[in-house]
Amino acid sequence: MARIANLNVDVLIDFISGTLPVPGGEEVVDLINAETEKTQTAGLTNLTSTINVFMADCHDEENEEHFSTWVIHCLRGTEGQKFHPMLKIPDYSFVVYKGTGKKNNGYSGFDTEDVEIYITEGGHLLRLQFKTLHELLTHLEVETNIIRGLATNFCDKATAIDSAKLGYRTCIDLRACRGIPFPDDDPRSEKNAIEEMEKAGVIIMH
Ligand SMILES: [Zn+2]
Repeated sequence: MARIANLNVDVLIDFISGTLPVPGGEEVVDLINAETEKTQTAGLTNLTSTINVFMADCHDEENEEHFSTWVIHCLRGTEGQKFHPMLKIPDYSFVVYKGTGKKNNGYSGFDTEDVEIYITEGGHLLRLQFKTLHELLTHLEVETNIIRGLATNFCDKATAIDSAKLGYRTCIDLRACRGIPFPDDDPRSEKNAIEEMEKAGVIIMH
């Protein structure tokens, strides 16, 4: 079965109302919920043609590289690292903790080192043995990834470009993404991020 994966990035308290808020970040929640609700997950052995993956920064305080660039955010075990309370995460969704090490930024969900992969069941996270998101998606025969979430010009961009490089048909749904503001001529800007994604072959959905 050629599956589609909704890759929902970093809809976490710290990025919405916490230490590193993305302007308008809460506006993505309803749209992501609407997309999640379109998928009827019947169970782990009977997954539907669209699966839901929720990615989450989950950092160690000693990650000097990351925290020399950004204020402290999404530390493991803190309130700010939790998913936004209005975000709906049904049973048999996949959760990917990224940026968990002491060195790696973990912008991309396709990080090959510092990720932990879980499945949700009965409100709990059950750890799976997949080492990378690519390994999980390959196992599930996913061919298309649709990226939504925060922030357009960092984790969304890095995830989308890695997805395209790995050969997935890759779309970014900008209606359900918000960026961190930088001037248009800054290489970190949303405008530049969208151009970089287009060059990498990502389909831009407005
Ligand atoms: Zn981070």
